[in-house]
Amino acid sequence: MMDGPLLGCIADDFTGATDLASTLVAQGMRTVVLPGEPRAGLPVPQADALVVALKSRSIPAADAVAASLASLRWLRSAGCTQFFFKYCSTFDSTDAGNIGPVAEALLDALEAPFTLACPAFPANARSVYRGYLFVGDKLLSESGMRDHPLTPMTDPSLVRVLSRQMRTEAGLIGFETVERGAPAVVDAILALQGRGIRIAIADALSERHLMTLGEASAGLALVTGGSGMAMGLPANFRARGWVPSMDSAALPAVDGHCAVIAGSCSAMTREQVARLSAGVPAWFVDPLALDDAERAVAQALDWARPKLAAGPVLVYSSASPERVAEARRLLGDDAGLRVEQVLARIACGLVDAGVRRLVVAGGETSGAVVGALGIPALRIGPVIAPGVPWTAAEGSPPMWLALKSGNFGDPDFFRTALDFAG
Ligand code: ADP
Repeated sequence: MMDGPLLGCIADDFTGATDLASTLVAQGMRTVVLPGEPRAGLPVPQADALVVALKSRSIPAADAVAASLASLRWLRSAGCTQFFFKYCSTFDSTDAGNIGPVAEALLDALEAPFTLACPAFPANARSVYRGYLFVGDKLLSESGMRDHPLTPMTDPSLVRVLSRQMRTEAGLIGFETVERGAPAVVDAILALQGRGIRIAIADALSERHLMTLGEASAGLALVTGGSGMAMGLPANFRARGWVPSMDSAALPAVDGHCAVIAGSCSAMTREQVARLSAGVPAWFVDPLALDDAERAVAQALDWARPKLAAGPVLVYSSASPERVAEARRLLGDDAGLRVEQVLARIACGLVDAGVRRLVVAGGETSGAVVGALGIPALRIGPVIAPGVPWTAAEGSPPMWLALKSGNFGDPDFFRTALDFAG
């Protein structure tokens, strides 16, 4: 058994990081997510895998490379021996990057000759065949990704996409090789390396293929892909007896009040808010009444504090598309940011008042709350709904957080999460 972390991961966005971390926990590795580039003196959490959550998907390539390299340095100094670069299962990128440049920079820094790239995620209907990415029955370029505002994907050939992003041509490991098993994939890797190829797209149509690719990646310093590509990696460490056999999703118990904060305006979150507010006291944060943010925060907390001992409270800004459009028209583009900051300050006040189990709905809202609470690390625990685990914030005070992107979960998600927390 090894003592420190084994697998060091760098994810290009926050929800991707928690998705990857949940995948690793499900495969038996205790996993901790580090929000943002880890600072030099950050204590190394006790875990088998660490996942740095960057926000580097759509920033300039040079900035994404710098943040990824800094994260790699920290993960290496923490003792990790293998590294994983996580990006979206729809390969969100442009010809300028950021997947190719980051992969290339990580290879250079590790002095590694070769890595694999595979965004396949069969559980979400993302598959790669002959290097072409399919979203359900459609080629990537015929899916909704075609019209993505920041990273429109109009070329379904990932070999071509990656070749345009890197200094050298990308190769392909086709599904017939993957079908033949890990030794055949290792042979293919060696053959590609012999031709001077540094990265290859790997086909994967099923979880079995992803497990094969994971097994074949045991000797690679760097692996890249969607969270599915990481599924087969824990078995390599287990086979060497390096992962302790314990409940990888166990979280330290906490005792305190419960609250839900919803800043997402997605259809699912609005339904979840409607369901929960039928049985739980609810406070609406109106973006049009935030001229005095201090007062808005104080009012919400004065309302919430006396109720906490009796049960959970809900604080939400979630509103219909018409109301959101109206707020943006009257307040300008930073309406969202203002709401996030107020919700984050309310979250801090609730924690000061004894809340120790907090559910947050909304990707950006979650980022603002985690930032305002100054949480250095999140230990990944049991899954509440696909893609949404309970997590334990390391640091003081110890508390549980469930961070959900807007559309995740079913209409009763909040209730399920609160019941789970006991
Ligand atoms: P999602 O995961 O659904 O995208 P986010 O939290 O990432 O949710 O994004 C929602 C954005 O909308 C945030 O910037 C939030 O502050 C903003 N917002 C929330 N409520 C309102 C509202 N009533 N009017 C305008 N913007 C809002």
